[in-house]
Amino acid sequence: MSSKKTPRNTEASEIRKAVEAKVQKSVVVPELLTAKSKFKFKCYPGIGCFTKCCSGIKIFLTPYDIFRLKTRLGLEYKDFLVQYTEPAVIEKSQLPIVSIRLNQDEARSCPFLTPEGCSVYSDRPLTCRYYPIGMGTMKKDDSKSGENFFIKIKEDHCLGHNEATEWTIDEWRADQESDLYDEMNSDWMAVVLKAKTLGPVEFSPKSLDLFFIVSTNLDLFREFVLSGKFIDAYGLDREYIEQLMSNELEFLKFSLKWLRFVMFDEGDFKVDEAARKKAKEKLLAQREMQRKEAREKDEQAEKE
Ligand code: SF4
Ligand code: SF4
Repeated sequence: MSSKKTPRNTEASEIRKAVEAKVQKSVVVPELLTAKSKFKFKCYPGIGCFTKCCSGIKIFLTPYDIFRLKTRLGLEYKDFLVQYTEPAVIEKSQLPIVSIRLNQDEARSCPFLTPEGCSVYSDRPLTCRYYPIGMGTMKKDDSKSGENFFIKIKEDHCLGHNEATEWTIDEWRADQESDLYDEMNSDWMAVVLKAKTLGPVEFSPKSLDLFFIVSTNLDLFREFVLSGKFIDAYGLDREYIEQLMSNELEFLKFSLKWLRFVMFDEGDFKVDEAARKKAKEKLLAQREMQRKEAREKDEQAEKE
């Protein structure tokens, strides 16, 4: 794409239902597309609607979005979160995440919007990259993987659809780096889609906290991983973990794999079963010791 920015996306997991319902009121064009399907679109500075789509919208941030934006802005995770985000919950699940906090102006514009366009264009969030092509996955109940399909989203105010430039879906996604973002977020997306598919599952407060920390603040998660308990529990080598942490991207991938494993026992997070068993035995032994000490204290108190 030769444009300076792109906006909005319809959430992938909702797309198939939206298409099936023929979405009369929706902006989704009710036609399933494949990677080779063609469409016409162009967004560029100077088009009549330029930047109109960067106000009054909800932009949820994925873990890789946060990583790219905070790196681009030279901020630590916590400073990025405080300055640019607000809490949000992923629809149809209880999963807590963050979205971009819009400016308090009349238009409710994105804080990264300037008169020249998007000031973080090459690191803009996935939502901004997807438009006007949304992606969903059709999954059979008994299958762990699914088949991707695509739909076109057409909003009245967007003049880019009237342009003559033709793309295949594959070409468009490569141009927007959507594939890279999807790949980096793949384990996280698997958790989100599963949580949404399962409906109102009662996650424990601890699971929700972990989901939020891993999704938004890897500096905080790093402290948790470096605690002896985490390393023992998964039979990890401390040297390997410290090396992993020296590469932020590798640590992001590791963290999302772990999140998927711990929330749904899925994916390919490697666990040393012998070490896990040993850590569990150690924990049980510690608990037994605490119980014993408590009993002895009670007995002592009774004697006195
Ligand atoms: S991040 Fe950039 S492209 Fe996305 S809404 Fe904000 S200004 Fe627009
Ligand atoms: S409304 Fe469409 S064409 Fe106009 S700036 Fe936004 S994405 Fe580009």
